[in-house]
Amino acid sequence: MMKAPLTPVEEALAHLLDKAPVITATEHLPLTESCGRILAQDYQAPADVPPADNSAVDGYALRAEDYAPDRALPVSDRIPAGSAPAPLQPGTAARIFTGSEIPAGADTVVMQERVEATDGSIRINAEVMANQNIRRRGQDLAQGSLALVKGTKIRAQEMGLLASLGLAEVTVVKKPRVAILSTGDELVDPGQPLGPGQIYNTNRFTLLALLAEAGCEVVLSETLKDTRAATQETLERAATQADLIITSGGVSVGEEDHVRAVLEASGELSLWRLAIKPGKPLAFGAVKGTPIFGLPGNPASVLVTFLMVVMPYIRTCQGRLRVHPVGQQLPAGFDVTSPSVRREFVRARIESVDGETRVSANPNQSSGVLSSACWADGLAVVPEHSTLAAGSLLTYYPFTELLS
Ligand code: AMP
Ligand code: MG
Repeated sequence: MMKAPLTPVEEALAHLLDKAPVITATEHLPLTESCGRILAQDYQAPADVPPADNSAVDGYALRAEDYAPDRALPVSDRIPAGSAPAPLQPGTAARIFTGSEIPAGADTVVMQERVEATDGSIRINAEVMANQNIRRRGQDLAQGSLALVKGTKIRAQEMGLLASLGLAEVTVVKKPRVAILSTGDELVDPGQPLGPGQIYNTNRFTLLALLAEAGCEVVLSETLKDTRAATQETLERAATQADLIITSGGVSVGEEDHVRAVLEASGELSLWRLAIKPGKPLAFGAVKGTPIFGLPGNPASVLVTFLMVVMPYIRTCQGRLRVHPVGQQLPAGFDVTSPSVRREFVRARIESVDGETRVSANPNQSSGVLSSACWADGLAVVPEHSTLAAGSLLTYYPFTELLS
């Protein structure tokens, strides 16, 4: 049998992303439940943030022109945070605290450390200029300005910013519903004893965690028997429940590899030999109109192909602003002497060797090995048809970036 040529990663991604259906369904969520979700609309600031000029320090508010060296200024007011201050009487100072509103008439705040306070008046031991230690109204966001744009993932700082706008609810993109199907007669779920010839189903759990981080809802998670009928039946059932099906295993050219065969027979198999290492056998297609990724069976291949191929697809479906991860250019701490026709994603981490930052590769890059992925903090890229000399720059993607 003639082998189909390998599809370069970019070509496959361009093809996949072009087909990715952008989710238009949205939901309103309490802000407290929105972390990790994707904004389904732009948000403008309905008012200035902060809403008023306020003090950046604990100290005294005054009019700069009332200051003279050695002049005692009576303290005419005390303005705790949360109170609405009366206008400042000319020729006086007001005791003020961090976050307190600046009283009308005051144009500067002197830190308490620069002040000698005695009997209801202060002397200032510092040069005083207007506009010191004042956080201006609207300095974070001016009323009407664009605060956050559609497609933004809500992280801690976005949660805080939305709260600062006074929003208790946000409109987010509905989570993609995903079915995880693990193929293989050898698979047993953890918690059961292993019989002869059996192994624990690893990929199901890797995928559950990856999908949770990717902001997806897993609606189905089943293990398939290696028969054509079981594969067909389960794929078709999954297609009615999910927006996306992800299978693992069964996409090589072995006799027991039924996922590829079912997709091929249904006529919607887009690609199945990707120039990626680990993870060459990778299928993309559709079952009854529902897109499906047929990931390889080997656990490290599942991790890598999910991060490098499925994640950009999911981000596109979610309407994310940035779909592709951004790598860091860092010196390689290892050599690659024999070029490969496949782009290799090496389980790696940043280490400091003699005070220099280097990307170190785990010695065990077998596609069946997950312990090296646990050792790693990211993936380093060895481009196709290339060798690599230690010390030269490579692209490194932290796992956090790949899952961002
Ligand atoms: P396959 O592509 O089905 O031939 O699978 C390739 C390799 O991955 C075989 O060694 C399988 O036993 C292994 N494998 C497949 N699925 C899983 C899984 N869910 N968990 C752990 N290993 C798996
Ligand atoms: Mg199999």
